[in-house]
Amino acid sequence: MALPPFTIIGSADAEPEETAQQPIQYVPVDPALAEGAIARIRKQVQGNGLKPSSVELRGVTGQVFSFFGTTSVKLTPKIQEGKRAGRFADGQIIQPQQIEGAVQEFISKVATDRGVLGLVHETVLTRKDQGFGVSGETIALPQVARTFIAHEACPKCRGGGGTVCHNCHGQMRITCYRCHGQGGVSCVTCQSRGQILTPQGPVTCHACAGRGLSACPVCQGQRMIMCPECQGQGKKICEGCAGQGWTTRSWVVTLTAETTFRLRTQNLPPALVSLIERVGGAKLASDGHAQIQAITGREAEQWISEADIQQGSSLWFLYRADMPFAELDIAMGKMAIKPKMAGFKARLMEVPDFMDMLLKPGAQNLAAAAAGGAGAAQKILESSRYRALGDMLRGLVRASPKRVHKAMVETYTLGLSDAFTKRILKDGNTALLRLSLWPRTVAMAAALVASLGFYAAFYLYGIRASLVTSIFGANNASWMAYAVDVFFAALLGMAGTYAIRATAGRASATVLEGLGVVSGTNLPLPKPGAPGLWLWLGILLMAGAFIMLG
Ligand SMILES: [Zn+2]
Ligand SMILES: [Zn+2]
Ligand SMILES: [Zn+2]
Ligand SMILES: [Zn+2]
Repeated sequence: MALPPFTIIGSADAEPEETAQQPIQYVPVDPALAEGAIARIRKQVQGNGLKPSSVELRGVTGQVFSFFGTTSVKLTPKIQEGKRAGRFADGQIIQPQQIEGAVQEFISKVATDRGVLGLVHETVLTRKDQGFGVSGETIALPQVARTFIAHEACPKCRGGGGTVCHNCHGQMRITCYRCHGQGGVSCVTCQSRGQILTPQGPVTCHACAGRGLSACPVCQGQRMIMCPECQGQGKKICEGCAGQGWTTRSWVVTLTAETTFRLRTQNLPPALVSLIERVGGAKLASDGHAQIQAITGREAEQWISEADIQQGSSLWFLYRADMPFAELDIAMGKMAIKPKMAGFKARLMEVPDFMDMLLKPGAQNLAAAAAGGAGAAQKILESSRYRALGDMLRGLVRASPKRVHKAMVETYTLGLSDAFTKRILKDGNTALLRLSLWPRTVAMAAALVASLGFYAAFYLYGIRASLVTSIFGANNASWMAYAVDVFFAALLGMAGTYAIRATAGRASATVLEGLGVVSGTNLPLPKPGAPGLWLWLGILLMAGAFIMLG
């Protein structure tokens, strides 16, 4: 018996037999695979309280797991109906009422046809993914198509191709409307008299030779003209069949292969299953997490108990996927962590929060600095000796906590918990703001007092009125006065904000220099924070009050 070239459901020569399944062998995980993961951890701990060289792989416990995936293929017909005028013979001719039976017969024939199935098989297996993980996709099979046609006498004209012309009653010609069948019309030159009067007496009309009639210009004396309604056809052409009397109905039946994919992951470790589910289907293979092998022919029949075949499928493909999964034992100085490693991409999972532990002393300093009090600047600088915290503090000087959070998450993908990240961000931000809160508050108060002095002079001593009149003239004064108000309020607000930021800059210069943000005179100015808001509010209130008073 020849080996089946592919796996067909219910195929005649796929004898059920007691298959001697060879057990899948135990394959240990190559420790070299873990080196990539170790390198990532080393890169993260550098500068964060641990020497990269003290991160060491002590052991790898695990194996390469094998599991099965099944792609089921269901052949579904697609019927495209059409109707044309005329009789065509470009398909299998049937009676119109036979169409359903004909389509059924065709589909049941092709769905089991070895040639067709072979084509589907080849189409699937020659795909780049070999059909692994392909779910909910339709693969067109334009090679497998059949056209059925049926001829029908046109129901509108009953096969006649048209109806008798109402104008000429099928005679194709009608009596000339100009001469009413006379063939001639009255002569215009002699007004039908046949003679023309001249000074020398009456002479015979030269135009009609004395007959008083001239040839009809419409029928040229023929008395009949071609029927304009039917263009001389004698009948009105049927629109339903373009005058052909017949229509051809057609049914083009094509086949598409619809795929469903099932992975059997029941007996795998839960952490491995969660990676498989996260990456999903085809990407497992294409992204290199798993190694895939299509099982075909007799071998597939032997493994049929591992296949999850969708009901009603015509074809199925079985794949074996291999994925390593191991627990790593990693020494990190005095600590040790045991994360899981899955797939050939050595993805680390269930990683203990080792970064939280490493950064803990720095985080405590930040919390103390955030609480305020003496030595806050020193505590901030001490915490910044950890690379992660230093980068975070430098980030907070310039950007919003939200953006710094994003950068932290992107840089430290392993072992840094979200709760810890949020806490150090909050403490860092508070510590930096507190550092200059008092100087900023003083600067705000000074700016408000200065603004009050300005406004008092401006509004109470008539400077506003005379300024407006001298610039815009007396006519526009009332309107433009408000523009001047807005201008001065903005000017005072901006000047005050600058004063607050400059004062804060001076106050936090030690810390900013210590963080290495920029040295010397090039320090970026800190954000004004809440005192900035209060300043704007105060200026606007003052301006409003003085305008009302004035
Ligand atoms: Zn017709
Ligand atoms: Zn006619
Ligand atoms: Zn005449
Ligand atoms: Zn005529």
